Amino acid sequence: MRFDVLTLFPEFIQSYCEFSIMKRAKEGDVIALNTVNPRDFTEDKHKKVDDTPYGGGAGMVLMPQPYIDAYDSVEKLENSITVMLSPQGEPLSEKLVLDLAKYDQIVMLCGHYEGFDERIRDIIKPKEISIGDFVLTGGELPALCLMDAVSRKIEGTLGKIESAHDDSFSNGLLEYPHYTKPRDFRGYKVPEVLLNGNHKEINEFRLAQQIERTKSRRPDLYEKYLKENED
Ligand code: SAM
Repeated sequence: MRFDVLTLFPEFIQSYCEFSIMKRAKEGDVIALNTVNPRDFTEDKHKKVDDTPYGGGAGMVLMPQPYIDAYDSVEKLENSITVMLSPQGEPLSEKLVLDLAKYDQIVMLCGHYEGFDERIRDIIKPKEISIGDFVLTGGELPALCLMDAVSRKIEGTLGKIESAHDDSFSNGLLEYPHYTKPRDFRGYKVPEVLLNGNHKEINEFRLAQQIERTKSRRPDLYEKYLKENED
């Protein structure tokens, strides 16, 4: 998977991929990262990439020329999608992450300040994706959320791909609780069933925990799970 990120703060994106699982995925050529700074493409002699909004109002708007030229400079693979990180987009979900993981390339547009001049949307026609109903200062954190979540779905990113199989949302439920050593910590004990080596009982216990957790924490997800698993 190749990620091309258009951002005014490329170091921010690059530094995230210098740690842990993302670093390993990059070094193992499971993912490739390319950052492009629209500021390097501006034709403005003061290197401006934003300006005041027509019609008035607070904040600065990202100008179309540097963004469009930066976008045009990115080589597009055949199986590629362009995403604009935006609070007005489709909410990021497990299903959307799985759909995105089918592409060979994701080009991401990170906004800043008051956001994009509308003609950037008109010309590029990206898929707009939001990471939630709140507004951040820039698209870098949302782009990293998307990149990280998609990378986990690509074989070779996780040490053992199975370790994502039971993750929350993978079967429509939240994940069961985990325990590690010691068996007793300040009087809080690991459930006996996890110690007896009976995998059938362990699986039943874990599924019951998943159902219980989802029911109490995310009744919306639980209703959906029930509908999809009526039998
Ligand atoms: N004025 C815009 C609005 O109200 O829709 C918000 C602009 S926001 C301050 C600046 C940039 O941060 C956006 O262009 C987008 O790239 C990013 N951003 C902010 N919140 C986001 C969210 N919830 N999901 C995805 N991107 C977001």
